[in-house]
Amino acid sequence: MDWSKLTYEQFHTKFSSEDACIDFLIQLKWPKGFRCPRCDHRHAYITSTRRLPLYECSHCCHQVSLLSGTIMEGSRTRLSKWLLAIFLISSTPSGTTAMKLSQLIQVTYKTAWLILHKIRTSIHLADNQRPLTGSVQINSAIYGRPFNPSVHKHPQEHLLLVGSSLDHSGVTPTTTVKIKQVTPSSPTNKHITRFDTINFQQQHINPNADKIEIVTGFFTSKRQRPLLEIAKQASTWINSTFHGIGSKHLQSYLDEFCYRINLTASSVPIFDHLVQLCMNIPKAIPKPLCQAA
Ligand SMILES: [Zn+2]
Repeated sequence: MDWSKLTYEQFHTKFSSEDACIDFLIQLKWPKGFRCPRCDHRHAYITSTRRLPLYECSHCCHQVSLLSGTIMEGSRTRLSKWLLAIFLISSTPSGTTAMKLSQLIQVTYKTAWLILHKIRTSIHLADNQRPLTGSVQINSAIYGRPFNPSVHKHPQEHLLLVGSSLDHSGVTPTTTVKIKQVTPSSPTNKHITRFDTINFQQQHINPNADKIEIVTGFFTSKRQRPLLEIAKQASTWINSTFHGIGSKHLQSYLDEFCYRINLTASSVPIFDHLVQLCMNIPKAIPKPLCQAA
């Protein structure tokens, strides 16, 4: 089912009870029934007297909670509020802000911000595991323009590399977009160096990509206007929805923007995909994810 097509009220009604949320998440975690993460055994004893069910493998006695390995692990916030947050970020083209979320799900601004930060971090981690492949184009851009027309970078301008790929290896061709922040070697340097593009290539492009075109000059006739347009759309979204973002968190907002347009272009239901990401975070958890929301 494409849950993103439900209205806020319909979704809220469907997942208003913790039991409904628990049943939904159990189905996501173990669609074919319990499976012990340690020994792969299929049977467990369930303790249901706690707030969330606890599973104990009947073979090796390993205990696993429903939320182990998810962004909700250790959180005291109700599951219905987590699911509503994931729904809100996936059901509207502009996503949601911490202020709006805190009012809708009735949590503090700090908790709402942390919930959104964890969701964005899971998007960021997934994005880093999916390199561009096929025919790849890269163009430089700047977030925060125009503060000054000089060759030197204003503190509120941030260098970006925008990449897109067209992959013909699947049943239907897929287009994927990435926008990555570049930390210049000097704080005032407005130019993207060869070192920066190699770095991008190593981190975000599959070594087996068919061909790679890179343009880093801001005034060259070779610049790829569709990529510059994507960077402009991302900047407009960040500025109109969040009233600008500083360097520290800019990348996670850029990843959220690209995530939404990539899934929309592939006709993948965003809520279904995002809730799966949130249920399966990688073993090495970045520090911000360890804080409890
Ligand atoms: Zn086991």
